[in-house]
Amino acid sequence: MRMPELLPVLDQKTIEKLIDETAKRISTDYAGRPLVLIGVLKGAFIFMADLVRRLTIPVTIDFVGISSYGDQTVSSGCIRLTRDIGMDVCGRDVLIVEDIVDTGLTLAFLIAHIRSLGASSVNVCALLDKRARRRVEVAVPYCCYEAPDEFLVGYGLDFDERYRQLPGVYRLQFNPEGAS
Ligand code: 5GP
Repeated sequence: MRMPELLPVLDQKTIEKLIDETAKRISTDYAGRPLVLIGVLKGAFIFMADLVRRLTIPVTIDFVGISSYGDQTVSSGCIRLTRDIGMDVCGRDVLIVEDIVDTGLTLAFLIAHIRSLGASSVNVCALLDKRARRRVEVAVPYCCYEAPDEFLVGYGLDFDERYRQLPGVYRLQFNPEGAS
């Protein structure tokens, strides 16, 4: 039996500063263009709430449910739409809001899906980007932080549905039971 340990990666203050900077860039780039934000459930729910309150442009909000991880720390590569977008995005500028981008498979799937709904543009904002682990090329123009190649939890990110409520981001390290 292995007991996970939480090692700090980003504290709350640092996350706030990173989101401030990203929200300013989005507000400048999309000035005068009504924007639809699509949050990816469940992991992006806290990031979405903090990001949207810092934007100075009018936005509308919806969520999409995607599942690619079970209770494992590696992607199954099998992507499932668990909740579709409820609003009409045809002819709209869309910004996908993700907690973390890893292989890029989820985003590639979602970008293709939103394009198929007729969006006039699809862009991506992510709190964390594990760029070194890409399996498909997807750009993340609004990335708050380039993350290490580790399994991360907190600030919306889970392991087996735990740790989402933590105010910071942590690396989950598995130690053998009894190890000091
Ligand atoms: P991708 O399809 O890019 O491999 O994975 C994207 C999704 O996998 C993210 O939305 C997130 O749900 C999950 N994911 C990827 N890396 C991590 C990680 O380090 N920690 C957690 N908790 N989820 C991750």
